[in-house]
Amino acid sequence: MSVNQKAVPGAATPGNGQTGNEQSSHLLPRMDYNTRHRPRQEQNMGRSPSLAFNLFARCHEAVSAEEAARRYGIDTERGMAHCVYHDDRHPSMAFRNGRFNCWACGAHGDSIDLTAKLFHLTPIDAVRKLNDDFDLGLPLDRSPSDEELAHEALRRLEADHRRQAEAMRVSLIRNLNAAYRVGHFALISGRPWTGQEALAVKWMSALEYWSNLLDGPDKTAQKDILDHMEELSKLCIKILK
Ligand SMILES: [Zn+2]
Repeated sequence: MSVNQKAVPGAATPGNGQTGNEQSSHLLPRMDYNTRHRPRQEQNMGRSPSLAFNLFARCHEAVSAEEAARRYGIDTERGMAHCVYHDDRHPSMAFRNGRFNCWACGAHGDSIDLTAKLFHLTPIDAVRKLNDDFDLGLPLDRSPSDEELAHEALRRLEADHRRQAEAMRVSLIRNLNAAYRVGHFALISGRPWTGQEALAVKWMSALEYWSNLLDGPDKTAQKDILDHMEELSKLCIKILK
């Protein structure tokens, strides 16, 4: 399938009244890309909320903003392109982690936002277009099958689990750093230490080591540490109480 099969109405052609010049770009409604109006019934497709099939999440996971950009005729080079939200002389639109972000005008979003912008569509119609153009097979005009719903439920569970793990990681880093600082300031205070301070000094290098690992790229090491979350939290609480 040709990447540039579809024309880009108004997107990559500054001066057609859609992108405007730099002055008019200030007048662009920010809600264009910052707010999505996605009626709940559209997301749920008539199913009960607990079984909701999130078409938007499925769609933007399936198609990255960069893939949509290329499919719809925007030239991208090394993850950058001319922004379609303002009159962009040098490529300011960066694609990363499936999304786009313009360093110049602040426009940001996913493949759905970009498609809606390019073709002047509502979000649900942008999903419809992406579904057609990328053969996603999303249950748009039918109820999701039991298999699709089961898959969706599993995906949500996994997403919840990831969110919880991330919240734990961030909170543990904060506590480890706070406990480390107790030790650090005790060391330079030049006065006798309290019980908590003595404990913090004793564990300082370990606190720093765990914090650095949790903040680093090694996911396996992070999981090992998070498996001991309870013990480490207890130690932090003893130092910080
Ligand atoms: Zn821009």
